[in-house]
Amino acid sequence: MKKALTIAGSDSSGGAGIQADLKTFSAHGIFGMSVITAVTAQNTQGVFAVQDISREMIAAQIKAIFEDIEVDGLKIGMVSQISSIEVIAESLKNYSPQNVVLDPVMVSKSGYHLLNPEAEETLIRKLLPLATVVTPNIPEAEVMTKMSIRNLPQMEAAAKIIRQMGAKNVLLKGGHLEDDSIDILYNGQGFEYYASKRIVTKNTHGTGCTLSSAITSNLALGYSLDEAVSRAKEYISAAIEHSLEIGKGVGPTHHFY
Ligand code: PLP
Repeated sequence: MKKALTIAGSDSSGGAGIQADLKTFSAHGIFGMSVITAVTAQNTQGVFAVQDISREMIAAQIKAIFEDIEVDGLKIGMVSQISSIEVIAESLKNYSPQNVVLDPVMVSKSGYHLLNPEAEETLIRKLLPLATVVTPNIPEAEVMTKMSIRNLPQMEAAAKIIRQMGAKNVLLKGGHLEDDSIDILYNGQGFEYYASKRIVTKNTHGTGCTLSSAITSNLALGYSLDEAVSRAKEYISAAIEHSLEIGKGVGPTHHFY
């Protein structure tokens, strides 16, 4: 059985973060493992409190897994603060993981800063070079490039800049564009384009986490990056189409239907 690890934050309401990642791994027939970087108290209406896990405990979790179990795919999600990023980068150097998907989580849909803004530069400098692919949405790409992104040519320019920052491939997600939603993948040579029809629902909590862990799953299963992204796009579209009316706010995507 293939094995995948998520290094990310816990979402108490089960829609995003570690919980979404583990559900996604399971739905792909993959054995899921987790290194928790922060615990959030949140539900479908917002994030109410965050407690960071100590750098010693993050390092101990990473060591415990890599010293014992082969990791076929690794996803990095919410990393919260500078010291967490530093210890993740230092710890992973010992193990040279393959198939690393970096979701540069910054702000939740409800507006909570899941990454301390002071840590943005450290995330770029320390984690991008580890990434097989980095998966920013437009607001995250705007933070990374300090440019405004409103259309496809600007997305292409931003993807080139982000790749120069060290990631091997860049999947820039266009869901925040006003018109068509299109994602682009840049590998340093050319672009792949992934168009998808917009699904009308308010229940989109955890979509970014789910997409990145679906890409991780498909890489762990041995698909090429292009195939892994295509399959993950199909997976997230279905998960949104079947999203759940749970809670009073933004409900979660659904993995088993
Ligand atoms: N909570 C955690 C722990 C996350 O990792 C994320 C996203 O990556 C979120 C919440 C945000 O979820 P959303 O913005 O989809 O509501």
